[in-house]
Amino acid sequence: MRMKGWITCPMGLKGLIHGVNLFLKTMMLPTFDPRDTEAGSRILEDITSNAGHIQEQVLEEILTKNASTDYLKGFLNGHSDKGLFKNKVPVVDYEDIKIYIDRIALDGEPSRILTNESITELLKSSGTSGGKQKWIPKTAEEGERRAFFSCLCDTVLNSFELRSFQGLNDGKALLFVLINPDIHTPGGLVLRTGSESEIKNRKDRYPQFILCEDSNQSLYSQLLCGLVQRDAIVNVGTFFASGLLRIIKFFEEHWQEMSSNIRTGQMSAWITDPNCKRAVSLILSKQMPDLADSIDLICQEKSWEGIIKKIWPRTKYVMAIITGSMAQYIPALEFYTGGLPVVSPVYGSSEAFFGINMKPLCSPYDVSYTFIPNMAYYEFLPIDNHQDPTCTNRKDAHLKDHIVDLANVKIGQHYELLVTTFTGLYRYRMGDIVLVTGFHNSTPQFKFGQRTNVVLSIHTDKTTEQDLQKAVAMAIQILEPLGFFLLDYSSYADTSSIPGHYVLFWELQLRSNDDIPELDQVKMEKCCSLVEQSLDQKYKLLRNQSISTIGPLEIRVVKQGTFNVLMDFYVSQGTSLNQYKTPKNIKSEKAIEILDSRVVGKFYSREVPNQDS
Ligand code: AMP
Repeated sequence: MRMKGWITCPMGLKGLIHGVNLFLKTMMLPTFDPRDTEAGSRILEDITSNAGHIQEQVLEEILTKNASTDYLKGFLNGHSDKGLFKNKVPVVDYEDIKIYIDRIALDGEPSRILTNESITELLKSSGTSGGKQKWIPKTAEEGERRAFFSCLCDTVLNSFELRSFQGLNDGKALLFVLINPDIHTPGGLVLRTGSESEIKNRKDRYPQFILCEDSNQSLYSQLLCGLVQRDAIVNVGTFFASGLLRIIKFFEEHWQEMSSNIRTGQMSAWITDPNCKRAVSLILSKQMPDLADSIDLICQEKSWEGIIKKIWPRTKYVMAIITGSMAQYIPALEFYTGGLPVVSPVYGSSEAFFGINMKPLCSPYDVSYTFIPNMAYYEFLPIDNHQDPTCTNRKDAHLKDHIVDLANVKIGQHYELLVTTFTGLYRYRMGDIVLVTGFHNSTPQFKFGQRTNVVLSIHTDKTTEQDLQKAVAMAIQILEPLGFFLLDYSSYADTSSIPGHYVLFWELQLRSNDDIPELDQVKMEKCCSLVEQSLDQKYKLLRNQSISTIGPLEIRVVKQGTFNVLMDFYVSQGTSLNQYKTPKNIKSEKAIEILDSRVVGKFYSREVPNQDS
């Protein structure tokens, strides 16, 4: 069973949707026809049964290939011995290797500083969840490895679809992708995001309007085509959950115009991009008043609860990454999808692709990713489960003594992920914390935990992204019986007054879609207290001191649409909409200004948190 035709598709569905006969030649990668689910499944079983062995081979190949690079020569003196690598090559983060990347990107020096594969592009990592944007080398061979990974992901999706749903075989996937114009570095390399790289390098596989570099025109056209073909759509998605919510907002702002286009058979005059015009005109070829009426009827309803299911009634599931920092969007997504399953297919990054979710239909809270052992060489720095995960940020000469490889991770243990790639990253700290939850054959499966470097801190307190997420989820329960849900939030440590205090920005929404009424002060103050009460002992201790070093926590409620404005701000700074993740700890003054200028209510905790609970 296979979906025929498509509208647009992100990572994970390419082989499936395009039916590409892709044979891979790279040494470490087995070859298979991605349309052959059985062959794909056999390969998946095989590689996950030999993870330890494959990882050793991958490291050997990387070292053999790259021992003569300037970077590795500095530590290994031209040798490619794995033991020497483990002994001598230091654990690094982006700042440590930026100087090498800058030499290639800015000064035009050759790739062999870092890798003997030829660097063809630099990928812009979104960086908005952890801080600054990074430039990550990519090579043509790496493109093949990622294509192989995507085919394996298709295999998993195909086989689970086969078992679970009827009617997918004649359906289409509406998967939204947006791209920006390329930038060139002074050294002459193209700078793009990972998703843009995939699309621009495989142009022939995507519909032309995906190539439109004007996000508004592109998204408008993608939605319009999705509406015209609403009865064929069986799967709606995008890369990250936050992106899907942004698309729903865009639809809310434009549905009347789209419906009018469908009624008249004429596309709006502001769609001038030739790719969009051509693609839409093929689909919007006549007046369709009945279709426009039914869209009006659905969209005019006051509450948009279940809008995805109503507009695309054959949709079986929604596809978007919903783990890690995206977990906060689960309630909002459940609201708009009408409770459709959300498939969180993969865990990957600009640096490398890591894991595939082998149980795509499991609850978003239970998703684990099985690492694919031929993508890169993975290592893990254990984190004491009761300790502050940010402490792994220390520069410790003995850090490497604690490292374990993929075959030796332990169930129930948290680790910081390190990656060694063919493209010039060696023992590179991803800044992601993962938890081992089990094994698929001999390959470990990981739950995504959090980023290492996102913290709120006033004094010696350190609140991680995950701590904050848990505390906010607890506090919002006070408003849920009143019909509210939290659309998005962020925070910063306000040290402009003494003592400093935590500030949370909340964008609330009513399930009924009514305007937000005046908020009940007592309930909002209770939310503030509950966030504080849910934070760790150190925070509570500092709040409890007779001269407290942390002031009462503040929630600033912002008006609706604020987090879209924030997203637009970060996109204007070079972040891709596909890969955008709301920063949970805002450092940019301009971003704080944007949020502050839209505050409609400020509330403070009135209680000192109880240290004994
Ligand atoms: P980028 O390089 O911009 O694509 O961002 C990569 C980062 O996104 C990763 O290092 C993770 O922090 C985050 N990320 C990617 N995939 C997932 C996932 N499945 N669940 C949670 N976070 C993810």
